[in-house]
Amino acid sequence: MDTPQQPLDIALAHAQRLSGKHLYAGTLQAALSGKTFPVASPATRLQIGTAADGNADDVAAAVGAAAAAQPEWAAMSPRARGKILCQAAAQLTQHTEEIATLLALETGKAIRTESRVEANVLADCFEFYGGLGSELKGETIPFAPNMLVFTQREPIGVVAAILPWNAPLMLMAFKIAPALVAGNTVVVKSAEEAPLSTLFVVELLNRCLPAGVVNILSGFGPSCGGPLVADRRIGKVTFTGSVDTGKVIAHAAAERLIPTTLELGGKSPMIVMEDADLDRTVAGAVAGMRFTRQGQSCTAASRMLVHRSLRDQFVERMAEKVNAMRMGDPLDETTDIGTIISTGQYDRVRSYLDLGRQIPDVQTLQLSAMPEAPALKNGLFIQPTVFVGVDNDNRLAREEIFGPVTCVIPFDTYEQAITMANDSDYGLAATIWTSNLQRALDATRRLQAGFVQVNQNIVAQPGLSYGGIKQSGLGKEASMEAMLDHFTQKKTVLISRD
Ligand code: ADP
Repeated sequence: MDTPQQPLDIALAHAQRLSGKHLYAGTLQAALSGKTFPVASPATRLQIGTAADGNADDVAAAVGAAAAAQPEWAAMSPRARGKILCQAAAQLTQHTEEIATLLALETGKAIRTESRVEANVLADCFEFYGGLGSELKGETIPFAPNMLVFTQREPIGVVAAILPWNAPLMLMAFKIAPALVAGNTVVVKSAEEAPLSTLFVVELLNRCLPAGVVNILSGFGPSCGGPLVADRRIGKVTFTGSVDTGKVIAHAAAERLIPTTLELGGKSPMIVMEDADLDRTVAGAVAGMRFTRQGQSCTAASRMLVHRSLRDQFVERMAEKVNAMRMGDPLDETTDIGTIISTGQYDRVRSYLDLGRQIPDVQTLQLSAMPEAPALKNGLFIQPTVFVGVDNDNRLAREEIFGPVTCVIPFDTYEQAITMANDSDYGLAATIWTSNLQRALDATRRLQAGFVQVNQNIVAQPGLSYGGIKQSGLGKEASMEAMLDHFTQKKTVLISRD
């Protein structure tokens, strides 16, 4: 009797099967140059496969496939497109375990706390947008009695979606599901560090969508993402990544006057007032700092502004909670915290740890415990670290670290807290924890961020507009508004009644 295959074996088989491939025009395609680069598990550092190293020729072929498929896709009724997206959601749901395992394998995101959750949000996002086909409405305008004037929303054409590695599936869904239901076709460029799980998802989508409607390339930023943004058949770029790369992309898009949506990270403040419910706040701090994802989140609560009267208790309770979390094999169901994504990111985070340890009068807490399993001895694990007593002007409080590192910054008055919260180049997310309703409402008005929460800190969800201000980016994702404003163009039509 055959023994059923384990999820890990299935995921490894997918990694092998998808190795060295892009997917466009409905089929897996090798890189035209024949070049590939290795994909390794950050937990074991063992190679699990390879990714196609895409260049301008691959871009030309994939964009060609997307451009060829677009007119027919756009000609379908929006509801029919939506139904296909719902079928795609069902397909993704059927394969959640395989998707989550492959994601955990290549990114080190713990299966129970992160990868499975993300795989579910992915499917949910397709279902959400699948239901929005009939919302692609225009308006009628009472302009003149002898004219019928109305607006209609039309697809932009071919959209380029450039992905980061930290939540690749969720962020891919936020980009491609609204683009597709609005009648665009898409070419995705996956992140160098997470090419296989996104490719697998696009393969599953291609079981439901017509060939060429959704395509994916892997490769490096300048050599693959660069030609994609520059291709004259691309009508829109949606990007998540660093501020510097976002600016490069915005410049390139400006050359061709095409619109961009840019989600560029943050340094999100979490204000803890003296009247906050400490139990909830501490749980919210641990969840908000995304310690389970090694802090690799744009909305991580990486600046904890805590009223001086609560500081010691808050720090002690948070330390207790994080110490109880288990760091280890991302594929183990008992693991809470997985790994850092790459050696580059590992070195970067450690340089901030060195910086923090050198600041006089700052207390350093290193929490949880390094895994002991021999198979993980070279894994990219970093202990969750809290620097207590950091100044809001310090680089630790100003720069996005993208690791399990947070600062506790004490304050004495509400006004001081609001001033410090807003004293940042970023403006993605912010939270305030208080039992004073008036203060909470005042803070929601004054906090300079695109996503503000009171007494909770959840991640972006389908249905809620998500996007930053200041250096955190331009435009919104994840909502109906995002689909209408960022993936359609409006035409005004005037018809004479005479
Ligand atoms: P990180 O530094 O975290 O890897 P980046 O912003 O550099 O973040 O990368 C995010 C995504 O942008 C990746 O898919 C990467 O390949 C892509 N990218 C990087 N540079 C460019 C570029 N010049 N043009 C287009 N895409 C790029």
